[in-house]
Amino acid sequence: VASLGPSVMQRLVQAFTRLPGVGEKTALRFTLHLLGDQKPAMEALSLALSEACARLSPCERCGNIAEVDSEGGATCSICADDRRDPRQLCVVARVQDLMAIERSGAMRGRYFVLGRLLSPLDGVGPEELPLTRLQRQLEIPGVEELVIATPPSVEGEATALHLAREFGGRVRVTRIASGIPHGGDLEFADPITLGRAMAGRRTLDG
Ligand SMILES: [Zn+2]
Repeated sequence: VASLGPSVMQRLVQAFTRLPGVGEKTALRFTLHLLGDQKPAMEALSLALSEACARLSPCERCGNIAEVDSEGGATCSICADDRRDPRQLCVVARVQDLMAIERSGAMRGRYFVLGRLLSPLDGVGPEELPLTRLQRQLEIPGVEELVIATPPSVEGEATALHLAREFGGRVRVTRIASGIPHGGDLEFADPITLGRAMAGRRTLDG
């Protein structure tokens, strides 16, 4: 990118290339667009980014996005909501999946975001999963059911079985029904399909 003008500009182009799906060409297009006559848009973007950087953090309980409070802690709006059903804890792979299930309205309990799935081929073993943090959430009085909503992929199924083996003795472990195509993304499943998958969940034996 040496030919791409001043180094301040190069740094901006480079920063954009870190976003998923953004190559150098697109990054350059974003940069030139903002530098065109988009000063207010650039200021708004800059402010939103620095605010997000300073004030957003993973929820200490579930891993959802949360706002940092005055004591430096972070509890998301779902964990803080005492109208949620304390009996259910729904395990998802990613925050996008949590948001998709929330949109469907099919989960009244709380969530736990794993952040990753078991993938022996990529060297991701059980020790890479946040099992201690998950166990702490399961130990909260009143939790009766662990609803596993990992995606219907090889990694998602392997993770579900591992969680059933790990926690099956302590709580009822259920797996959402299929309906979402194998290898499909929860994020892109429609609310009705997700609602059916949640309603049709089955007990997993560890
Ligand atoms: Zn939370």
